[in-house]
Amino acid sequence: MLVHREQMTTNDTPCSTNPSSLTNTEVRLLRARRLFDGTEVVSVPSVAVGAGTFLAVGAAAEAMARADPTIPIVELGDVTLVPGLVDCHQHLVFNGEGTLEEQVAGRSDVELLERARGNARRALVGGVTTIRDLGDRNFVTLGLRNDPALPTIVCSGPPITPVQGHCWYLGGECKDRSTMIESVKRRIEMGCDVIKIMATGGAMTPTTPMWKSQFGRRDLELVVSEAHAAGVRVAAHCHGLTGIEDSIAAGVDTIEHCTFVDESMQIDPDPALLELLATSDTVISATLGVVPNADLPPPMLAMIPRVTAALGVVRQRGGRIVVGSDAGIAPFKPHDVMPHAIHDLIAIGMTETEALHAMTSGGAAALGLASKGIIAAGADADLVAVAGDPTVDAEAITRVVAVWKGGREIERPMADPVTA
Ligand SMILES: [Zn+2]
Repeated sequence: MLVHREQMTTNDTPCSTNPSSLTNTEVRLLRARRLFDGTEVVSVPSVAVGAGTFLAVGAAAEAMARADPTIPIVELGDVTLVPGLVDCHQHLVFNGEGTLEEQVAGRSDVELLERARGNARRALVGGVTTIRDLGDRNFVTLGLRNDPALPTIVCSGPPITPVQGHCWYLGGECKDRSTMIESVKRRIEMGCDVIKIMATGGAMTPTTPMWKSQFGRRDLELVVSEAHAAGVRVAAHCHGLTGIEDSIAAGVDTIEHCTFVDESMQIDPDPALLELLATSDTVISATLGVVPNADLPPPMLAMIPRVTAALGVVRQRGGRIVVGSDAGIAPFKPHDVMPHAIHDLIAIGMTETEALHAMTSGGAAALGLASKGIIAAGADADLVAVAGDPTVDAEAITRVVAVWKGGREIERPMADPVTA
């Protein structure tokens, strides 16, 4: 419980990384029972926060407070501080009701923008301080970036897909290679942070079988070279085996889903493909996390153990796996679902600490965000306090009691008085 906690300052000034330029009213020392910095447990669980960034961590933070007795000390009590969670795959415009197409059909861009704002807010309250949105409609989520009341949002705009391909109704249809190149250029000009391409079909567009490739290796290579030339990363949606193999060969940065399906819908990938995934630089953004006691569709239930086993092999051989919840697509995936993914990471073979790494600094690294997902001097002060110790009790990461975004504590609805 929080014993003696005061509100963080509601100062709106932009970030500064120079502590000497801060007044003491902007600096706080937060003391908890435990602290996980994104990689390991820090023995002195204290962090100094000021004007949007972490100023010092551990013993250095305590030394800073000792040197300046005017710095307020906030005793957080029996909580663990962890970096803000990084969800590598969400859809802020979806609300989980009906098919994906139904979720956006007939809605104006203004309606979708406001829906996305509410969803982003829900994610933040739940501890997700960085979201990569991998598919909106008409670029609406770009309008939510740089709002201090929301998570940091990394946007792809509408995914690139063939005519009538997976999620075509989001507006990213391309009829040939030159249109694909134009689409990449347009996204970069509009300021998209990442390019999303639907390399294979998807479960939620019935006309596009999941296993089937929508683009060839050469198409994927063109998109990657165009994007990388502009310093923009590429996320490839892949369920089918050929799509996974081609995406690795093309040098995409993350493979989304990676469910290893073939035409028979069996999941029995060739060990050579798993080895390729384990040794490539491509990171798997695995679709993990559902709400407790979710009523999952039978096909999904049947796939989970086999995908988990295959990802376990990739992990064991040194592959990098992070979490992309795909929040928004279904009722069992609300936008604050990500903390529940810890159980799936453990099922893949991670320890609690490794899972927490994947959910924080591992995810941030996959997105190329060096100042996210870590508690370190100079990094963005995105922080979550959870009740208990998630490094030994995984479920504790779901018991969020406080969230800070850019050093400011987020107002949260009153906690449910009936706690589990
Ligand atoms: Zn998705």
